[in-house]
Amino acid sequence: MKLPTRSEDFSEWYNQLVLRAELADYAPVRGCMIVRPYGWALWENITAALDSRFKATGHVNAAFPLFIPRSFIDKEKSHVAGFSPELAVVTHGGGEKLEEPLVVRPTSETIIGHSYAKWIQSYRDLPVLINQWNSVVRWELRTKLFLRTLEFFWQEGHTAHATAEEAEAETRQMVDVYTDFAFREAAVPVIPGRKSESEKFAGADITYSLEAMMGDGKALQFCTSHNLGQNFAKAFEIRYLDKTGVLQHCWTTSWGLSTRVVGAIIMVHGDDQGLILPPRLAPHQLVIVPIFKSDEEKTQVLENAHKLHKELAGAGIRVKIDQREGMSPGFKFNDWEMRGIPLRLELGPKDVAKSSVVLARRDRPGKEGKSFVPQAGIADAVKRLLDEIQQSLFDKALSFRKANTAEPVDYVEFKAAVEKGFAFSWWCANADCEASIKEETKATMRCIPLEQPGGSGKCIFCGKPANSKAIFARAY
Ligand SMILES: [Zn+2]
Repeated sequence: MKLPTRSEDFSEWYNQLVLRAELADYAPVRGCMIVRPYGWALWENITAALDSRFKATGHVNAAFPLFIPRSFIDKEKSHVAGFSPELAVVTHGGGEKLEEPLVVRPTSETIIGHSYAKWIQSYRDLPVLINQWNSVVRWELRTKLFLRTLEFFWQEGHTAHATAEEAEAETRQMVDVYTDFAFREAAVPVIPGRKSESEKFAGADITYSLEAMMGDGKALQFCTSHNLGQNFAKAFEIRYLDKTGVLQHCWTTSWGLSTRVVGAIIMVHGDDQGLILPPRLAPHQLVIVPIFKSDEEKTQVLENAHKLHKELAGAGIRVKIDQREGMSPGFKFNDWEMRGIPLRLELGPKDVAKSSVVLARRDRPGKEGKSFVPQAGIADAVKRLLDEIQQSLFDKALSFRKANTAEPVDYVEFKAAVEKGFAFSWWCANADCEASIKEETKATMRCIPLEQPGGSGKCIFCGKPANSKAIFARAY
């Protein structure tokens, strides 16, 4: 059975693809998600690529508890307002009603703030640079696999600093780290920028986000980095003695990237045949499909396939042989296409005789993506091709975004622009304009990109003077 095409029903294309590529499944509890091995392998590669970057910038990992005393959430004013509607609360344990209800963490600023208050005494204890990999729970009403689920997997970094400047530098550093990951690993051309007051994190002074355009022109927030100022430091008394012996509040940050990014990868790169995974994150980068009829051919072909497998794996390529019985090569081709493996290696008796193989690129279907490659030096040829595919996916996503980003001259053009993609427009930074635009067009202010054209203009909605341009779009 074929997937619905992206143009006829993008949402249903996505839903069916997630299930049929065996990335994830629905759970018995509404809104929860079961991540299947193929989806988890993809997530593991995402976590590995990020974790090494976090460590290279001086961060260490730790684990904080799943349960948070309800009273902690109430300590920071805007935090409680932002998160209360989404909390899952445990009222009973061990068969008894609890004295104080426990919240299943929606994020960990409060419990980590509590710990930092104990651990940090002096300027010598700073900075504290901790990350944790975990899952959190937010009681979402409208859910979609990977994009918005009750429980989701992510990392949350939490840092404490002596000065406002250091906290801002950390917040921006993590924006750069995430951007590097998005560009180089996920092949997603994100736009880093600043959120509006109404869209920022509950409890942050400044929120930065990376925004990406999906294959249907809608925006998806890839991840966020928050400068929390002294809000949590004051709520949790995170203080240190400075060099002159004066007690000061710390400046803190938090930053996170979740399993949503799997959804982004699907929606940025996928096509009507299914998934297309960027080689650097793909669980399998190349699948060998042996082709034979007689038993004699089978022995010959499989022996050659195993030799190639050994050579490719030895060169650090994630390779798999599809030895499933009772399935035609054609069926296997379609199956791996749907599951997005970047390269397919076809090997039949003629190829064995000529000591060559056929390599087929997932991102270029048909003849155009096929090449005949000698077996001698195969690992180098495959590596080269994988690099080419990685770059080509990024380039394609970038030109799609450019083609679907308008710079409207007036509000009429603006409305047409957000029907199909991004509108990059002057905005006066007034929350009323932002709210009216949202109500009239369903487009939200995604971010004020860090990269600005300079100069000034007139707000796309009210016509008043504006100093920066913002991205508006409908969003996931
Ligand atoms: Zn305005």
